[in-house]
Amino acid sequence: MTLKIERVGKQYGNHWALKDVDLTFDDGVIGLLGPNGAGKSTLMRIITTVMKPTEGTVRWDGTDVVDDPSVLRRRIGYLPQDFGVYPNLSAREFLEYLAGIRGLSDADDRIDELLDLVDLADTEGHLGGFSGGMQQRVGIAQSLLSDPDLLVVDEPTVGLDPEERVRFRNVLTDLADERIVILSTHIVSDVEVTASDIVLLADGRVLAHEHPSILLEQVTGSVWEWTVDDESLPSIKRNHTLSGTVRQRDGVAVRVVSEQQPTPAAELCDPTLEDAYLHAIN
Ligand code: ADP
Ligand code: MG
Repeated sequence: MTLKIERVGKQYGNHWALKDVDLTFDDGVIGLLGPNGAGKSTLMRIITTVMKPTEGTVRWDGTDVVDDPSVLRRRIGYLPQDFGVYPNLSAREFLEYLAGIRGLSDADDRIDELLDLVDLADTEGHLGGFSGGMQQRVGIAQSLLSDPDLLVVDEPTVGLDPEERVRFRNVLTDLADERIVILSTHIVSDVEVTASDIVLLADGRVLAHEHPSILLEQVTGSVWEWTVDDESLPSIKRNHTLSGTVRQRDGVAVRVVSEQQPTPAAELCDPTLEDAYLHAIN
């Protein structure tokens, strides 16, 4: 299984939401990381053949799926960013309904399996009464109805509490053994443990496509910490890429991403993926 995105661009009116996107994916969890407006949802709509690119092409095992989407459509599962459920159906009824409209016959066993997988087999009641995390797990279950080779989930952790977030991540990691999973997020911690590849997207362009450890290596030697007084904080924010602050008894410990030592008092520290992300997008 190979997904190859070649020189893809997408124009809305005069605005290029994506430009010159070249990416190849083979397997594992791919974290598509970028700030709001970066073009993540646009790229996912193009990959899932919901939308055609303005230029460029997408190939699935060699087949151009912009020209001929049918092959990939049968192999794909998609959880869109704005996924809505029917509040008056139970989880099982909802999956039965979707299996029906997608023409999947004899889906009962598959639905049992999926409800188990997302830990909703014993959950009663209507979807309208479910928490955000439970609804997202129903969303994942529907995306897996046809046992897809390519699973695309767009900002699936938005609105989840920290515990639900971790659960959700674990479910996705389990799924990545036998398929390509592409997950978009603007939150670094969603992908730093689980992703085998990270794609950094900003302003419609790919800034990096690397293993997380390589991104960390690239920012090693460029992350600094020192303590300042409150009055200096605004000027540090203006002049540096600030990755964090911690209030201390004698002032504020600042963490800054900078290729040069920002001040003699600054000491090098171990980078996180958050630092690498800030370094790339600034
Ligand atoms: P992300 O998912 O990373 O937040 P999007 O793909 O939603 O980014 O949006 C990328 C850019 O394209 C943004 O500037 C957004 O305002 C614009 N955009 C997205 N969808 C549309 C649309 N249907 N019509 C016009 N502009 C759009
Ligand atoms: Mg989006």
